[in-house]
Amino acid sequence: MSRQTKLYYFDNNATTRVAPEVVEAMLPFLTEMWGNASSAYHFGSQIKPHLDDARARLAALINADPKEIVFTSCGTESNNTAIHSALALSPGKRHVITTAVEHSANIKYGEFLQRRAYEVTYLPVESDGSLDIHVLDQAIRPDTAIVSIMWANNETGVVFPIEEIAAICRSKGVLFHTDAVQTPGKLKLDVKSTGVDFLSLSAHKLHAPKGIGLLYIKRRTKFQPYVIGGHQERGRRGGTENIPYIVGFGRAAELAMSTLADENTRVRALRDRLEQAILKTIPNTVRNGAKEPRLPNTTNIAFDFVEAEAILMMLDQLGICASSGSACTTGSVDPSHVLTAMNVSPMRARGSVRFSLGLYNTDDEVDYLLKHLPGIISKLRAISPLDSKHPDNDQFDLKTARQKHNHAAGHSHSEPDDDAVTV
Ligand code: PLP
Repeated sequence: MSRQTKLYYFDNNATTRVAPEVVEAMLPFLTEMWGNASSAYHFGSQIKPHLDDARARLAALINADPKEIVFTSCGTESNNTAIHSALALSPGKRHVITTAVEHSANIKYGEFLQRRAYEVTYLPVESDGSLDIHVLDQAIRPDTAIVSIMWANNETGVVFPIEEIAAICRSKGVLFHTDAVQTPGKLKLDVKSTGVDFLSLSAHKLHAPKGIGLLYIKRRTKFQPYVIGGHQERGRRGGTENIPYIVGFGRAAELAMSTLADENTRVRALRDRLEQAILKTIPNTVRNGAKEPRLPNTTNIAFDFVEAEAILMMLDQLGICASSGSACTTGSVDPSHVLTAMNVSPMRARGSVRFSLGLYNTDDEVDYLLKHLPGIISKLRAISPLDSKHPDNDQFDLKTARQKHNHAAGHSHSEPDDDAVTV
């Protein structure tokens, strides 16, 4: 099968295309204005107003004060920094609360802390991916240093009640950090009305480049830097500022504010049309996660009796990009930790695909996906060892299943990557 050259991109929660406006804003800082913003002479110092301007634009996106914004290298660093700071400044408090459905930026950092004798509570979620805030209320202890809970889930799009969570933390005197990486341009963000202490963003989820992020730190919150070095970011994060990327991030923030309405009307309608058509026309499919409150661009669908990996390979042949929450590890496909926490069966989780739409998706692209998907599922089901007639359909030989699926998808598939990550 020859590879389709046009790209049909339905994986905007993994990363987004850099907007042309963002590239345009960045270019002067990669070509003529490449000085160091901290230099005293004009060639360097002329950059500083652009750094300030980007900071102001990002502050406006979340209704913060520019002084409350610290640039980092990515969302992962921002999450790690918030938790690190809270623990470093309260040595007597060795307990952290997060959820079982966080991004690996939190899950793995939690595991790292556990190996260093910290206690980490991973709050469970309901079967629709929602969080019972009473469980949080009960989990907070006198030695809890920080609660870190995502605003919206990257795999299901399920949105958590951040304002209520912040209120609980405030009433108990515990710091609250939220990973809001998936939210810009999709939800209205207001750190003042929600009352969070820390908030993480990552530029590559909002049409700016990878490798730049920010941490919002509420005024007067005690803070201990994670990256220690120069005096940049008012002493809160060492390292020469990545000016082109920061400027691009600032421009993207401005765009995200102006496209919020489009994302919540046009993109939402595209997502709903896609989801409804799949659930209606393809038998044995079910949405994972609550219908609402949910990000307007995300749908996560289980295709029973097939492996998501095989679906994705066949979609890839047609130029269609989507993803599964599964992380491949040698010899097995681990079901997504998010779906597992939602009590989705391993079989169903392994057949689940996330489609995350974005500003550049069109009706025609959704039509193209809908034209091909039913045939792919029928073809895979026809050769699936996970046949509905199998009484024991949760017990199957993964290796054989994958080989058969890969063969059907026209792939000679090498052993899965041990370091596969979920994005
Ligand atoms: N948090 C969430 C919810 C994400 O989806 C991601 C990216 O996939 C991250 C954190 C990590 O962001 P970054 O890739 O900038 O480190």
